[in-house]
Amino acid sequence: MGERWIYAFGAGRTEGEGQGKEVLGGKGAGLAEMSALDIPVPPGFTITTEACRFYHEHDGELPPGLREEFDSQLSALEEATGKRLGDPDRPLLVSVRSGGAVSMPGMMDTVLNIGLNEKLVAARAANGWDPRFAWDCYRRLLSMYGDVVLDVPHADFEGALAAVRDEEEVDTDAEISAAGLERLCSRYQQLIAERGAAFPQDVREQLWGAVMAVFNSWDNRRAREYRRLHKISDTAGTAVNVQTMVFGNAGDDCATGVAFTRSPADGAPAIFGEFLVNAQGEDVVAGIRTPQPIVSRNGREGLEEVFPQAFETLRKVCETLEAERHDMQDVEFTIDGGRIFMLQTRTGKRTGPAAVRIAVDMVDEGLISEREAVSRVEPEQLSQLLAPVFDPEEVESARQEGRVLARGLAAGPGAAAGRIALTAERAEQMAQDGPVLLVREETSPEDIVGMHVSVGILTSRGGMTSHAAVVARGMGKPCIVGAGALRVDETEGTVRVEERVFHEGDELSIDGTRGEVLAGALTSRSSEVLAALEGGAEASQASPAAHSFVRLLEWADQFRRLRVRANADTPADARMARLLGAQGVGLCRTEHMFFDDERIGQVRRMILARDEAERTAALEALLPVQQADFEAILEALAGLPVTIRLLDPPLHEFLPREPEAVEAVARLMGIDAQQVRDAVEELAESNPMLGHRGCRLGLTFPAIYRMQVEAIVRATHACHARGVDARPEIMVPLVGSEEEMVRLRQMIREVIEGVEAESDESPHITIGTMIEVPRAALVADRIASAADFFSFGTNDLTQMTYGFSRDDVGRFLPSYLEQGILQADPFAQLDQQGVGQLVEMACRRGRSSRPDLKLGICGEHGGDPSSVEFFHRIGLDYVSCSPYRVPVARLAAARAALEEAERGGDGR
Ligand code: ADP
Ligand code: MG
Ligand code: MG
Repeated sequence: MGERWIYAFGAGRTEGEGQGKEVLGGKGAGLAEMSALDIPVPPGFTITTEACRFYHEHDGELPPGLREEFDSQLSALEEATGKRLGDPDRPLLVSVRSGGAVSMPGMMDTVLNIGLNEKLVAARAANGWDPRFAWDCYRRLLSMYGDVVLDVPHADFEGALAAVRDEEEVDTDAEISAAGLERLCSRYQQLIAERGAAFPQDVREQLWGAVMAVFNSWDNRRAREYRRLHKISDTAGTAVNVQTMVFGNAGDDCATGVAFTRSPADGAPAIFGEFLVNAQGEDVVAGIRTPQPIVSRNGREGLEEVFPQAFETLRKVCETLEAERHDMQDVEFTIDGGRIFMLQTRTGKRTGPAAVRIAVDMVDEGLISEREAVSRVEPEQLSQLLAPVFDPEEVESARQEGRVLARGLAAGPGAAAGRIALTAERAEQMAQDGPVLLVREETSPEDIVGMHVSVGILTSRGGMTSHAAVVARGMGKPCIVGAGALRVDETEGTVRVEERVFHEGDELSIDGTRGEVLAGALTSRSSEVLAALEGGAEASQASPAAHSFVRLLEWADQFRRLRVRANADTPADARMARLLGAQGVGLCRTEHMFFDDERIGQVRRMILARDEAERTAALEALLPVQQADFEAILEALAGLPVTIRLLDPPLHEFLPREPEAVEAVARLMGIDAQQVRDAVEELAESNPMLGHRGCRLGLTFPAIYRMQVEAIVRATHACHARGVDARPEIMVPLVGSEEEMVRLRQMIREVIEGVEAESDESPHITIGTMIEVPRAALVADRIASAADFFSFGTNDLTQMTYGFSRDDVGRFLPSYLEQGILQADPFAQLDQQGVGQLVEMACRRGRSSRPDLKLGICGEHGGDPSSVEFFHRIGLDYVSCSPYRVPVARLAAARAALEEAERGGDGR
């Protein structure tokens, strides 16, 4: 037997069972699975992704035997349905649907109602079918076929359709008369003819044309763009499904709809979705008419009331599918003459909050294990649960000021404020200078990149399952759809709400959790989860979102080996870090404390000091302040390690520039302004980031580090005296040689011992270094002899390894990414190949000379899931990231451990 290219489904013939979505595509595999479960599915067959792959690999040549197989499958389908393609009495109508292994919603093309031509429609309309229905089916076929197969712009068809609506003075397509539709069909045919093609009246030619168009659509621009954004392979290919039509547009006992087995917005365990009576295919998501909810809401009748039997079947189908697939499903259905048919099932896209709640609920329902729950939530999704919301008081006063412009459907949770961009292109340009809100009538796949760069998405049309809503949820962006009060005028560059006019560039705010659009930019605050966590155990219990969040992370903690700390410079940061599960502080930057208005004068005095006496006076003034800072942070993290980094930035960052600042320092030091300006001049460096900073300061101006160490030790003693378990660690920045570390370690020990001599306490304070200069990684074994721990400063290490200035990379990085020279921003995602090699080597060398060396990382990468996976793999002890990224890192570390266990290694 030769290779097989086609598998049948439905009507009791499930040939593709067990083939999986790599072969049948997601849609085909779902149809096969439903067919095997006796769920009502219109019969049809699936041409495999392998056939599509063959076609593209052989310059458009069909696989051998495909045509014959196709013909015999078609005959079998005709047999099963009792209808025949092109038969004037009992015509078989089919849809041709694309569907690759990975779902690409709306990215490729589907043609419905194939099998109609003018003669046949006229015959059926005259004898047997409702003429309105007959012409409706035909006009849909013409426009879809014209668009997908013959490349006639979709907008041309829309224009002709709008013209007929106007002629008949009706608002919706469903109200156009049979005569109107017939007229529309001839205009459509004319439109197609004007474009140089003719709509094929031969129904077999139609069918083949559509199949080939699906094959070809795999390679269109939209699809390629989508794959690039979602990192889907270009070679996978799409399957083609040929399926008997069922009709949602054959009258008021018909409908089409979409449903999720649970809420994709917040994960609440109830069917969620929409349907439209007397409509076909994508009418429900296209925002043409406002659909009805599946479960009645806001006084609108639900499916249960309108089609009770169909609802009951749908409920059972949802249950069966969840029990079978152990995950939330997104289904498409059509009701034809009161009977429901399922047309698609796939794993539903969901927001971060929904992902967490569904995973945790499914563990409780016995559908999945804790391990599965942990591996099912993407770490990045957790950040959505912590996403800010608007301050309710500000919203309230904005309301009173009449700034609420419109309400729409709350399609993607979270609050966003930004400047209006009316097209995806504008959004891309404007996003360079700050947050942008993409505001459109509705979005389409062409807008993907623009949506990506926007902080939020707002449309005036569409429902909860419109393109904008689905894509925004997938991206985790706040989104409001169907805000009908907005008049979006792209050509005029305005958004109008009654009398008010907003221009592109004006500020708007959207609350995607409540569906409210407000004028101006509002400030935001803590999410529900964060507020509940801050409110304590009881408040967390009371919020389903917070409760699931806490439980999922507790499970994650059981699986991970990597510890997670936070980068925190203030007591407030430290408390937040602890609340989000940080196991200590991996980086406390002391310089941020210096910028405080009251302190900066003394800091400047210390730097500009012309003699030791002056410097000592300034440092004496700073000592108690630093000590108080450290006490507060150590107390907030009592019982946990806190790594305090000694002063790091170039001195010039602290120097006075404004005349008032110069005057102030001059007064403080009792000298005149010109002397201050001269001193500033003298300290100028041409490349400060590679200049007088970090440990170089400590070695040339030792008094600064001495003061800081003294403050740390005194703070520790003070904490201990109050019974607070303070655990500081002292970290030296920018070390590049053994000698630097040896000398500084000795100096630090001296200060510690000096302070301890005054008291009877001698807490163990470890002394370590950052590894952020490439040379430090190269001589890590030597440096380790004087360091108790290493903490990789991957920001500087990336900067110096690549030679990319962190501050200027924005000039060329976008182009590098665009051209594919870099796959990812190396400051966001660790460059494992290069920088990662240095990290790995430094770990090995460091541990070779000091086996108990503690290893961590405190760059931005500590909160990036793919980097966390790498740090787990090379055996670091901990990662440290910003407090809000701590949950992300906890989950990423757990998933890294689980994946490793699955591969069967221990990673070292
Ligand atoms: P997409 O991948 O964009 O979701 P689909 O192939 O699912 O495209 O089809 C588009 C729309 O047409 C969907 O609403 C689907 O339910 C509907 N549809 C597809 N095939 C049929 C059919 N045989 N009968 C009725 N409706 C169909
Ligand atoms: Mg579609
Ligand atoms: Mg679909």
